[in-house]
Amino acid sequence: MAAGAPTPDSIWAGRTVVIATQHEKERVLGPLLLFHLGLPWRVPENINTDQFGTFSGEVERVDDPVTTLRKKIRAALDATGKTLGLGSEGSFGPHPEFPWVPGDQEIVMWVDLKNNQEVIELVTSTDTNYHSAVVSDWPQLERFAHEAKFPSHGLIIKKMEGEQIRHLHKGITNWDLLRTLFNQYGSLHVETDMRANFNPTRMQVIELAARKLFARLQNRCPQCRWPGFGETNWLAGLPCENCGRPTRLPKVKITSCTQCGFCQEEPATDPLASAQFCDFCNP
Ligand SMILES: [Zn+2]
Ligand SMILES: [Zn+2]
Repeated sequence: MAAGAPTPDSIWAGRTVVIATQHEKERVLGPLLLFHLGLPWRVPENINTDQFGTFSGEVERVDDPVTTLRKKIRAALDATGKTLGLGSEGSFGPHPEFPWVPGDQEIVMWVDLKNNQEVIELVTSTDTNYHSAVVSDWPQLERFAHEAKFPSHGLIIKKMEGEQIRHLHKGITNWDLLRTLFNQYGSLHVETDMRANFNPTRMQVIELAARKLFARLQNRCPQCRWPGFGETNWLAGLPCENCGRPTRLPKVKITSCTQCGFCQEEPATDPLASAQFCDFCNP
């Protein structure tokens, strides 16, 4: 190691990490942060991350998830005057590789304003209760609730008037209230509450993404020794085990440093792709 090279101690010592959340993500992020990096953390009071978009649709998310997350972390850092921030942003919808199942993509981001560093990791999981429906009878709503893991997982009830949300009830976690709202509205729009504090399944996916991020923050650049070295891109084309044609799976992984620009290519761990990923053998 070169003399004077940065060490995680010299970069992070004495600093506090601000976790940008108003939905209790510190419950998983805080202990991991302390365990892996030994850093104290805090959650700012009075930050409104919902201003950048909500899952329930009252505030539309106008930016892509990475830009949205960057803005949330920046707002949390501005509010506290700190320079080290952490946050996560989820997106739900058809899984990118298996579009017939719903997926949860969680992006986690580390921001160090002092050293102009941003590190991102992401996890895509099919483990999600993400779902919505229009229901008009109680057994239908009951079935939806059971499938959504209610009441350990929250629900959202909307009464629509055309395209407009007339009434909105978020964070419902008990049967009595659900029944009362059903009796009140008759037909209604129900959806899973995807906010982390109302969705333990999502909280677990955030934890997986955070574990990846902290592993990466412990991985240092071979050239300049900065922490945060890891995979940033890949080239598709791993050959099919059956026909040898290129698939969409990565053939080469590109790992790079956020600070000095050093990058290297690594061949994929497996030399061949399973035929299930081949557009020719398994269209
Ligand atoms: Zn093939
Ligand atoms: Zn480097």
